[in-house]
Amino acid sequence: MKILLHICCGVCASSVMERLKEEGFEVIGFFYNPNIHPGEEYKRRLEITRQVAHILDFPLVEGVYDKENWFKLTAGLENEPEGGSRCAICFGMRLEKTREKASELDIPYFTTTLTVSPHKNAMLINKIGKELGAENFIERDFKKMAGAKLAMEFARRHNFYRQNYCGCASSMKSNQK
Ligand code: SF4
Repeated sequence: MKILLHICCGVCASSVMERLKEEGFEVIGFFYNPNIHPGEEYKRRLEITRQVAHILDFPLVEGVYDKENWFKLTAGLENEPEGGSRCAICFGMRLEKTREKASELDIPYFTTTLTVSPHKNAMLINKIGKELGAENFIERDFKKMAGAKLAMEFARRHNFYRQNYCGCASSMKSNQK
């Protein structure tokens, strides 16, 4: 059973990938994160994701870095706190593109690594995923069963860089993951 996994960063993908494989899914990764700022940071997170794909042996599809579109969609919400309406739009944009890509590649299911972060609202992410994909979206909270801890251990083992902010310019300023 094939699934397209939206990947926010390679380290988060590590424990999620292992879990989905244990569940019997054939997982294809999809890196699509136009929220990441600045461009150097985007390249850095993408490069680590490529390395993780190599280590864990999964195919990786790379999305377009359409940051102008992200800025347009979130305009006026720069001062929203993390977890507010800017984040809901940011989750929705990335999940919508993942749904489209899964359909284009004829992959029946999709989900996201986003819920592995202890800072992310899994209920909100799952609600958005279900609204977009109904039964094609696989609802999970990957931070459960030590998902975040396992990802951190993976990063330490392989000496991978860990960012100290979520991704967008606003989160960089407030320095939150
Ligand atoms: S804080 Fe994270 S989830 Fe929220 S808008 Fe910024 S990058 Fe997206």
